[in-house]
Amino acid sequence: MKAKGFTTRIVHSDRQQQPEAGAVHQPLHNSVLFEYPDVQGLIDVFQGKSANHAYARSSTPSVVALQNMICDMEGGVSACVFTTGMSAISTCLLSLLKAGDHIIVSHYLFGNTNSFMQQLEQYGIDVDFVDVTDAANVQEKVKANTRIVFTETIANPVTQVADIEGINQICKQNKILFIADTTMTPAYLFDAKSYGVDLIVGSLTKYFGGHGNALGGWVTDTGNFDWQDYPNIADCYKKADTNLWGITQIKKKGLRDMGGSIASEACHLLSVGAETLALRLDKICANALNLAAFFRSHPKVAKVYYPGLPSHPQHQRAADYFKYFGGLMSIDLVEGTDCIQFLNDLQLVINSTHLGDNRTLAIPVAPTIYYEMGLARRQEMGISENMIRLSIGIEDLDDLIADFEQALAKV
Ligand SMILES: *Cc1c(COP(=O)(O)O)cnc(C)c1O
Repeated sequence: MKAKGFTTRIVHSDRQQQPEAGAVHQPLHNSVLFEYPDVQGLIDVFQGKSANHAYARSSTPSVVALQNMICDMEGGVSACVFTTGMSAISTCLLSLLKAGDHIIVSHYLFGNTNSFMQQLEQYGIDVDFVDVTDAANVQEKVKANTRIVFTETIANPVTQVADIEGINQICKQNKILFIADTTMTPAYLFDAKSYGVDLIVGSLTKYFGGHGNALGGWVTDTGNFDWQDYPNIADCYKKADTNLWGITQIKKKGLRDMGGSIASEACHLLSVGAETLALRLDKICANALNLAAFFRSHPKVAKVYYPGLPSHPQHQRAADYFKYFGGLMSIDLVEGTDCIQFLNDLQLVINSTHLGDNRTLAIPVAPTIYYEMGLARRQEMGISENMIRLSIGIEDLDDLIADFEQALAKV
């Protein structure tokens, strides 16, 4: 039988696990503890011989249902969910790295991920930041102790697209773990596994959940990496199938010991949100492409950063990799216009941080999300001082254009 489509699989995902009483949604399990009348059941959980639950910091049926949904979407071997995207990223790296290791990371990272990577240097991990739009920059930094290359697919706010194919080749040749944050391009837009990504990570708070009502993060092991090539796996996690060594260490040293566990309510909200992921992304990406064309021809807009525009430096690459070009774009208004006034004049569009929401959001980049970084680093990242970042939502296109039009008319 032909494999079922993306949305069909998601909306029937919970049912496959046969939740009690014929429920089609996985019920919320708020119990922290789990009972085993025969104590052998509990012993088996502790020894990794059973997939049941012991304590909610490590897993609950609600957590596992969300993990299954994500793992199925991405064609992975195993997934692990966390309380936030930052928790997923930090836990994943801290449980796989040791002092003395070297990692190569994108120069163009989500602000808090960038800040975390800088912090890793304080722990004796050597971090090189490179321009990932050209894999030659990654190649140049590879050393004998390079363990990980970490990049985002489409960066925020300038929308650079990483040279994923080139980076993957380098990682495979050198047996380096390839981690990609695909928050901007969820599985519906980008098949990370087929592009060689070993661990997919990111924020479920954004497009995946989509409704701005729950935080979450995830790590999926695609099964591409041979963990026998990774020197930092503790012997006690080498008992399972080699495919599971990495995720087991992330679940034990990471989730269990660091405790970034997600609540059942959040799992439920995120998985209900994800049922419409494809529908929302169809609308969001179509709106974004139309708005990018609108801004590009508007006399008060100096520059539009959006991979869907043929003028974008990685436009062709984005067209090859992704189903659509995503929902994030930035604009620079022409010299002398007041971008703060423009933002205050928007009536429908919300001035807010966050992205991937059903609602269209706008934020001035330099004084907010990239403020802490300072001018020099912003310039290195190609961020102009009056750049405005937009996360396009699912509103009716005419209403969005009318709102931007009236605010641009006033500046
Ligand atoms: C938002 C975001 C994160 C962090 O996710 P949270 O759920 O907010 O912790 C990580 N990576 C990218 C690309 C993001 O946009």
